This record gives sequence, C-alpha cells and structure tokens, in this order.
Amino acid sequence: MLILVINSGSSSLKYQLMDDGNIIAKGIAERIGLRSSFIKHQRTGHDSVIIDYELPEHGTAIRKVLAILTGAEHGVLKSMDEIRAVGHRVLHGGEKFAGSYLVTPEVIEAIRDCIPLGPLHNPANLAGIEACQKVMPGIPQVAVFDTAFHQTMPPEAYMYAVPYEYYRNYGVRRYGFHGTSHKFVAERAAVLLNRPFDELKIITCHLGNGSSIAAVKNGKCYDTSMGMTPLAGVPMGTRSGDIDPAIIKYLMDSDPELTIENIDFILNKKSGVLGISGVSSDFRDLCAEAEKGNERAQLALNMFSYSCRKYIGAYAAALGGVDAVVFTAGIGENTPSVRSQSVRNLAFMGIEIDEKKNVEVPRGAEMDISLERSAARILVIPTNEELAIANETRRISENLK
Ligand code: AMP
Repeated sequence: MLILVINSGSSSLKYQLMDDGNIIAKGIAERIGLRSSFIKHQRTGHDSVIIDYELPEHGTAIRKVLAILTGAEHGVLKSMDEIRAVGHRVLHGGEKFAGSYLVTPEVIEAIRDCIPLGPLHNPANLAGIEACQKVMPGIPQVAVFDTAFHQTMPPEAYMYAVPYEYYRNYGVRRYGFHGTSHKFVAERAAVLLNRPFDELKIITCHLGNGSSIAAVKNGKCYDTSMGMTPLAGVPMGTRSGDIDPAIIKYLMDSDPELTIENIDFILNKKSGVLGISGVSSDFRDLCAEAEKGNERAQLALNMFSYSCRKYIGAYAAALGGVDAVVFTAGIGENTPSVRSQSVRNLAFMGIEIDEKKNVEVPRGAEMDISLERSAARILVIPTNEELAIANETRRISENLK
C-alpha cells in the first residue's frame, strides 16, 4: 500500500513515498517562498537529483513533487492515484489529540486552534495538509502529532507550579514532543526484549539536534523532558534546555539591549552545546574538538551527558524501576561516548553498559549494549519517524473501508 509521508516546515517540505515500510522515493523541497528554491529528489537505488523550480508556496511544491513522482525521468508512479493515503507530521496537537486522526474540517480547525502553542510549525503543517487536499482530492489525509503519545502523562507530571488559571485559560502545561519516535523505539524495545509492551518500564532517550527523554510505563508515556515547547529538558544543539526562569529578567536588567525577542532567539538558536562550546551544534565537531583538547567542547559534551544521566535517574525513580534504557536519533545512535557517560555510575540501580559492545554498534543497527549481568537492558534502536507515520496512516486509512 503506497503511502506518502509529508513533513512540512515553514520553508521546506520533506516527503517519503513508502510501500509497506519500504522507501520508494524521498526528497525535500527547499526554500519555499524564497528565491532559488529547488527540490532534491531521490529514487531508491539511484543518485539524488536537484531540480530548480519556482516554489512560491506549499501548494506549488506539492504539485511539483507529485509531477516528479509520476514523471518519465525520475518518477516511480504511473499516476498519483496509486497513492492510497498521505500521512502528515504535525507538531502540536495540544490536549485535543491523543492519537492520529483522519483529516476532516474539524481536525483542521483543531490544528489551527493549537497555533498559539506551535506558532512556527503548526501553520506550516497546515499549509502542507491543505496543499495536499487541493492537489489530491479524495485521497485520505492523516495527521500524526508529535505531542500525541505524551497525552497519557498524569497531571503531576504535566502541570507547572504556576497559578492554575494559566493552565485553564491558556493551556500552560507540559506537552512533550518527539512522541512518534519515543513510541516507535519503546515498542521496538518490547519486541527485542520479547516481553509485552504494557508490562515494561522503559526510558527512551531521543538524542538528536533536538533531544528529549521519556519515561514509558506499561505502554504509556508517564513523563517527558520537553515541556510546553521543545525548548525544555536536556541541553540541545542550539537550545538551552532547562534553565532557571529568573535568568531571563536578570539578563534583561543586565543588558538593556536585550529584548524578550532577542532572549527567546538566543535560548532557541544560540544556546545548548553550541552556546557552551562556541564551536558547533554538531556532536561530530564537538567530539573532534574535545579530542584535540578543546575544554569548552568537552564541557558541552559533559553537560549534555550529565543532564541525560539526571533524567534517566529521575525517570527510574518516577517509574519505580527500569527494564530498558533506549538510545536513539542522530546522537543516541552514533555517539558511544554520550551513551557511556549518560549511564555512568548507574550500576547501583541495575544499569550497566558493556563498553566494548558500546563502541561496536554498526550504523543503523539495533543492539543490546548492556552487560549480561545488568538488570536493565541498554538498547540502541534507530528511530524511523517516517515509517511510524506511514504505519499510523495505513492503520487509519484501512479502517475507512
Ligand atoms: P538528528 O536530529 O536525529 O538528525 O541528529 C542530528 C545530530 O546527530 C547531529 O547534529 C549530530 O550532532 C549527531 N550525529 C549524527 N551523526 C553522527 C555521527 N556519525 N557521530 C556523532 N554524532 C552524529
């Protein structure tokens, strides 16, 4: 069953055409609404091609993507009618969506209602959905939310200790993100452990450019490190993660040039391991610099792993034990030193890494990197959000018949 997965950003649109989990073609339309826009397209088994197009808005980008997918030169389809459904990644579903939904006018309205919570992403996600509806009328569209998996958190985990009416009136609470990834790898962990998902206590560490950690109990999310927005939690590539909120006023009082907009920008784009190291937001660069003796690069790495370790410890306490710790995403899958440091000294609670196995994980492989005697398994599991979105889309569109 052919499913098109769309991840629509403010000036980009990523796509993947999947057939029962296999990628047929994928690509990205870049610089939508800007000059020099183009589409980078790749058929599986072929080199990628870059095609220059004018892409004034998302509708044109979708039309061009479909033209490429059905075209003689780089195409893989005879007609776009072969696509049975389209799955869309949507950032913020607020409290309205605890699962994936077939797109209806009511669902579109509800995604629109969540724009204040996801002001950068939700409008772009909607633009992708509306463009597909226009270009592919009659083909089911499914919305898959980054926040949905976390909707099972209990109030003590999702509430902030600010006046209650801020929650009631403005929806101020923890929502959590990367939910599709946390769910995907937690379910895979249950398969690898050969135990029922709904009997396990799993800590999933999605460590990439954006990073978040989740506590998953009996198949449901119990807590997660990101908050009302994806700025909270562990330090990230360019995001600060948790800081004392009083720092914001203190900085504004200290430097009259700093506006609240500047600070928001700095906390999102100039902080994290980039801000600490002054070198890069990319862990490959940081590891290389630290190797050469760059102390601030080493400090950034240490801070990142220490923060992960604190969350793992906290979530083991929240869950009342832990059966598996899972590492995934760009850093989690590819940086042995971060994995090792994130579980350092946790033998007292039954988490013991096999340092030899840890450095031998083949790229893209699932692997158990814990010592035989470790009470909890430490697993590396590559995430695949597109596959998870395709699976959700298939499940929902199959039920339509
Ligand atoms: P993601 O957001 O999951 O694509 O992860 C992106 C981040 O993963 C990059 O910024 C890098 O810091 C990190 N990363 C990706 N590949 C590697 C690698 N081979 N070794 C170390 N870090 C990596």
